[in-house]
Order: sequence, then C-alpha cells, then structure tokens
Amino acid sequence: RMVHRTMVDQFKYALVWGTSVKFSPQRVGLSHVLQNDDVICLMTDDEHRPLLDESGRHHTYTSLNAYITTNDRQTCTGANTTFATGEKLLSGRYESLDYECDESEISHMEEKRLGHQHRRRLVVVKWFVMLLIGVCTGLVAVFVDVSVKNLTKFKFSYVQNKLDSCLSEHCLFKPYLTWIGINVAFVLVSSILVLWEPAARGSGIPQVKCYLNGIAVPHVLRLKTLIAKVLGVIFAVSGGLAVGKEGPMIHSGAIVAGGISQGKSSSLKIDLHIFKYFRTDKHKRDFVSAGAAAGVAAAFGAPVGGVLFALEEGASFFNQQLTWFIFFASMVSTFTLNVVTSAIDGHFGDLSSPGLINFGLFKDVPYKWVELPLFIVMGFMGGIFGALFNQLNLRLTKFRHHYINKRWLLITEVLLVAATTVVAAFLLIFLTMNECRPIKTQLELNSPTIQLFCPDGHYNTMATIVFSTPEQAVRNLFHSEIGTYKAWSLLAFCIVYFCLTCWTYGIVVSSGLFIPSLLIGASWGRLFGIGIHTLFPSIYFNPGKYALFGAASQLGGIMRMTISLAVILIEATGDIVLGLPIMIVLTVAKLTGDYFNEGFFDIHIALQSVPFLPWESEVFSSPLSALSVMSTPVMKFKTVEKVDTIYRVLRTETHHGFPVVDHHTDESNDERAGTFQGVVLRHQLITMLRKRNFISLNDCLRDYLTMDDFRESYPRHPSIESVYLTDEERELYCDLRPYMYLAYTVSHHSTLPRIFSMFRSLGLRHLIVVNDKNEVIGMITRKDLARFRLTHTKGHTSIEELGILS
Ligand code: ATP
Repeated sequence: RMVHRTMVDQFKYALVWGTSVKFSPQRVGLSHVLQNDDVICLMTDDEHRPLLDESGRHHTYTSLNAYITTNDRQTCTGANTTFATGEKLLSGRYESLDYECDESEISHMEEKRLGHQHRRRLVVVKWFVMLLIGVCTGLVAVFVDVSVKNLTKFKFSYVQNKLDSCLSEHCLFKPYLTWIGINVAFVLVSSILVLWEPAARGSGIPQVKCYLNGIAVPHVLRLKTLIAKVLGVIFAVSGGLAVGKEGPMIHSGAIVAGGISQGKSSSLKIDLHIFKYFRTDKHKRDFVSAGAAAGVAAAFGAPVGGVLFALEEGASFFNQQLTWFIFFASMVSTFTLNVVTSAIDGHFGDLSSPGLINFGLFKDVPYKWVELPLFIVMGFMGGIFGALFNQLNLRLTKFRHHYINKRWLLITEVLLVAATTVVAAFLLIFLTMNECRPIKTQLELNSPTIQLFCPDGHYNTMATIVFSTPEQAVRNLFHSEIGTYKAWSLLAFCIVYFCLTCWTYGIVVSSGLFIPSLLIGASWGRLFGIGIHTLFPSIYFNPGKYALFGAASQLGGIMRMTISLAVILIEATGDIVLGLPIMIVLTVAKLTGDYFNEGFFDIHIALQSVPFLPWESEVFSSPLSALSVMSTPVMKFKTVEKVDTIYRVLRTETHHGFPVVDHHTDESNDERAGTFQGVVLRHQLITMLRKRNFISLNDCLRDYLTMDDFRESYPRHPSIESVYLTDEERELYCDLRPYMYLAYTVSHHSTLPRIFSMFRSLGLRHLIVVNDKNEVIGMITRKDLARFRLTHTKGHTSIEELGILS
C-alpha cells in the first residue's frame, strides 16, 4: 500500500519508524497508533524523513497490531488487538546458540597445547557421558512410572472402596466428591509447580525442537525445570487429566543430558571440574539430542525411534559418530528402565518392559491386501481429526493468551478442567452402566476390573477404562475381545476425550499429548473396526487391530511426524508385520493434515514467536537478497578498540555479536569502511572487561585470556551491568584479535534461499554481509531470516515481514 506523507498527515495518529526498511524495536520511535484494524506505518530514516524505494514510493508497513499491543499497551488502549503474544512477531528474548567451530587464536593455542591425545580422550569421555545420560534418563522414567502407578492405585482403591460401600447405602455423591477432591488436589500441585517454573508447562517437545533448531529457549535446561516437569507430570497424570507422561520424558531426558554433560550445576552452584571441554553450545547440543532420544526410548521402549526423533529435528548437524552416540544413550536408557522395572515388579531379569508404555501382544494381526484401502481411509480420517484438533487448540490457546493470563485465572482454569474431567468420567460410567462383561477375559489383560452395577463375575467396561491409567485404557481398547465395547459408548468416549484433551493441553500443568492422542484414535479406530465388521459380517476383522491403526492415524494427524513416529509405534507394538499399515496411515494422515494446517508442536512454536528456521526457506522465488534482509548500519569494533567504546556499546545495544574490522581502513571516517577480520561475541567482551584484559595504545597484548576464562561462566554469562570500570580503565584499549573468530561472510548479492540454507546447514548465529572490498556492510541473524514468511490470503500469495520484539 502506498502511503503519501499527506495521507499520513490526514490521520489523527500515525506510526513512525525510526529507521530504514527494517524495524528493530530498539530504534522504533513509536508515537501513536491508528485506531484501526490495519496499522499503516511510514518508514522513515533517523531524521524522520520518509524513505523512498527505487520507484520513488514510500516504504510502508501494515498489520502491526500485535506488535503494538504487546509493546506499548498504554498507547494502544482501545486499538484493535489481534494477538496478545503477537503472532506477527518474533520475540527478541530468544537468543541463538553458538554452533560454529571456535576458530579463534586462543582456541588454536589450546588445541596445540592439548595435542591429539586429548581429542581421543574426549571421545572416550563422551561415550561415558552418554552412558550416564542413558542410565539417568531411564531412572527418571522409572521414578515417574512408579510414582504415577502408586498414586493412581491409591486414588482408585480409595474411591472404589467408597463406591462399593455407597452402592448399597445410596450415597453415591460421596465417592464422587472424594474423586473430584483427590483429582483437584493432585492437579493443583502440578499447576503450582508449573507456576514456580513456567518452562515446565506442556510437554516440552516444542522447546526441545527449538533447542535442536539452534534457539536458546530461556530456562529450558534448568534443574528447576526438571523438578517441576517430573513432579508436575506425575501429579497431572495421577490427577486424572487427559494427559500422558511420555512427551515430558523427552524434555526430561534433554535436561538430564544438558546437566550431566556439563559436570556442574549453576542452580546448585556446584562445579565438579569435570567435562569442562563440553561447556560449549556445540557439545551440549549433541548431548541434549542424546537425552531427548533417550527420553523417547524410555517412554516408548523405542531406541531406534529415539534416534530418528533426534534426527528428524536436528538432522543438519548429524554425523555417523553422533548417531552412534545417540543410539547408545537410547539403548542404555531403555535397558535401565527394563532392568529396574523388572526388579520392582518382582521378576528381576525378565526384561519384558522396555518402555513406559506397553501396547501388549497383538494376536490375530495379519492383514489382507483388501484391507489396505481401509487403512488409507483411516489415515484420511486421522488427518482430518488431527487438523481439527490442532485448529481448536490453536483458537483456545489464543483465547488463553488474551483472557486467561493472570495467576488466579490460570489456576481456576486448571481446577475447572480437573473437576470437569471427573464429571465427564462419571457421566460416561452412568450412561453405560449396563455394559457388563465376564471378568475372566479382562484378567488376561492385567487390568483392574470394576463391578459397579454389574452382576457378580462381571465388570463394567467403561468404568474399567475410566478407572485405569491412560496407558492401561489404550491397552484395553487394543486387546479387549470383540463385542466388549458398544459402538455408541465408544463414540461417546471418543468425543468426550477429544474435547477434554483439546481443552487440557495448554493449561498450566506439565502434560504430554502422545497417550491422549492414542486413546482418542484407539476409540474411533475400534469404532471403525466395529463398523466394518457390521458391514461385512462374513469376514473376520479384529477391532483391536483397527484401534491400533486409529491410534497411529490420530497421532500422525496431530503431530505430523512420520518416520520417527512410525518406528516408535512399530517398536512399541513389537510386531514388524504391522509396520506397513502403520506407515500407510501415518503418511496419509500427515498429508491430509498438512493440507489444513501445521503440526501441533509447530503451531505452538509459532505462537510463542520463536525465530524457528524450517528446513528450507519458504520464500523461494523471491527477489530478496542479502541487501533486503540484512541490518545496517552494523555496530562493529576495531581490532584494537577503546574500552570506553566497548562498554558504552554493550550498555546501549543488545546484540550478541559484533564484527571486528581492520582499524587502519576505518580511519577514513567512512561509515562503510573497515575490512572484515572476525566476529567477537558479547559474552567474550564482557569477560574481557571483567578480567581487565586491557592494554594501552601502541602496547601489545601479552597476557592472553585462555579458553577456560571464557568457559568459566558458561552457560549463564554475566551481564554488562555487573561490570564496573574506573575512568582510567575506560581510557585503555582491548585487543580483540586473539579472541575473535572468523565467521562466515556472504556477498551482498546473495539471495535469501542461499543465505537460508547456509544458516540451516551450518548452524550459524551471525552472518556478515560484505561488499566487493570485503568491507562489512550488513549483519544477518536468524531473526532476519525467520522474519520472512509466505502468506496466503484470498488466493493471493505474498511475502509477509514480521516484526522483532525486544
Ligand atoms: P542472537 O539472537 O543470535 O543472540 P543477536 O542478539 O546478536 O543474535 P538478534 O537479536 O538476532 O541479534 O538481532 C536483532 C536484530 O539486530 C537483527 O535484525 C540483526 O540483524 C540486528 N543485529 C544483530 N547484531 C547487530 C550488529 N552488530 N549491528 C547491527 N545490527 C545487528
């Protein structure tokens, strides 16, 4: 849209940007906002002169409501708000991780000093750390499992006793209220833990995905998060919510790995002075991938699935050796879980429970080729239901951001969900109170049986699902004999559980989505099987098998992971014969779901305004080049820079990387001059200031800081506010040459897709744009790339540019 100055003047309010086509919040001079749906802003330079593009038109920007509402609430009172968190925004609070090899002079010096032997030793130590990660993740999984089992057992036996005695005394409201009371108390504990550490909210998979993508999500790997996550999920699952414990295991594994590999705990202020060479983002990322994989392995008993999960999320940095490391950690994790669980269950050595979830043994599973079209139909259904689920949850999450953002509201919602879940379960039991089956068949499934209103020797089918853990419920649906569940009760259960799961994900508790999705899918899958059996009574169709494919299809439709999910499910079922149908339903479900919207976790990542880089740039055919993407002018330093200049820049700018330029060329006073020498990071500069690594002009640096000095504070580097300098010190100089590293550069002619693939495949944090004379003219970070998206509105595709919120 073209906006002329006269047009802007006509508006009572106008929004004026402080600089160039890029709108960086630090430089935005926000004055007023249009009280309109579309905010139109005029791009101006530093003197507030309108900027013109090549064709003489003004640069304009539209649809910035989100930015305005979050950044300047006061000014925007009454403005039309779209999203409180800003879907059209990238949040500046997410930093990137440093995955680049350190090529600085001091790093080379250290390598030379330590020699080749050191590299070999590191590999051995790495195997050892992987072993520890596997063992610890397995033990965490056991702890979660045992705690959930015991709490659930205590709760159900208590409620069932009350129920049994009240059946004759007609006081059913008592067990009902007891059940609500216990559930609400458990869930309250879970939500208090999450309010204590908000990073433990939800499943944690989006955060792990972001970490593997190269984003440092605040608090994601903290000990506090692990405690809140583990205890939170135990109480959430035991509190009867429609959540699972498998997703949080992936996050827990990642935290365990992040912590163990560093040999220290910043939270506990303990430093064991071991594994110090692993205190870099690059090494830590490898361990975190192994931890996430070990988490998958422990959750599903699927070590290969774990490796594939890590591979699917972080394939750009994988190599053969790392794959081995991760596979090893996954195997150790599932083995540890297996051994300890067998010991707890009283059959030590009988390694038959490799994961938290056990789908049980499938009988009569062979399928005929005539069933393949049915699997495709099921995949299609899973895709549609999954897309519907994602869409509903997206709307609910936006609603929450808007209206449920105070602590008391968050807690109220949690309590409401907990109470509603019990009410719904009770209703389901009463609606199906005459559905009884002989007890002997159920005993084979090792599942509790609840008699309720049934005659002796019989149990109530719905009560048995509702009164067991979600994992047991899934197993029941997979293996109960034909005729156990009536069609309409399955339908009722499916609808109720679908709504509950959709509502539950996102409340302030630690919660996983795998098991609830499986349960929804298993119920409609079984229903589908019953339908087929009714249509073709002469052919024998095992409804349990259809429950499995329904579960796979629903999971695929929600998550949209294909390879890892297929392998996870095959490993969890333990029957390779089912591999092909599982792959078919997952693929069809993904393709169908992708037609409507993104995968569940991708939606949540976008909602959090994370600068997540997909595999490839969406903006393919665009004429966008480095010039239109980069930030300019660049804040840079000379190779020997005055302490006062460094200090002032660090106090005023929030950037984490600064190009270092040759100071001889820079003396021309030309803004663009200065040939590129390297990049120095913010934390390095702060360490130099704190350690007083100064020289006087014309002196040369003799006391180099070592790599250990920079590692000391990893990963919580001190801020510039912690530095105090005297006036004399400010007049001294810093020699940046030994500490800077040679970052990648691109020519200003490079196109966006090319820059994008460099970022993605090399795991870059800063990319320097240079001109033909190797002079620094621009800076590109991941936020500059994540800002450009394709939007499709009313059949028209255009490039949308998001704002960056500090
Ligand atoms: P990271 O988030 O990876 O830690 P950063 O904090 O250095 O990187 P971002 O927050 O990604 O930088 O950048 C915000 C905006 O500032 C981006 O548009 C980026 O191009 C710009 N920018 C980053 N560093 C500089 C710099 N040294 N000079 C000028 N602009 C910069």
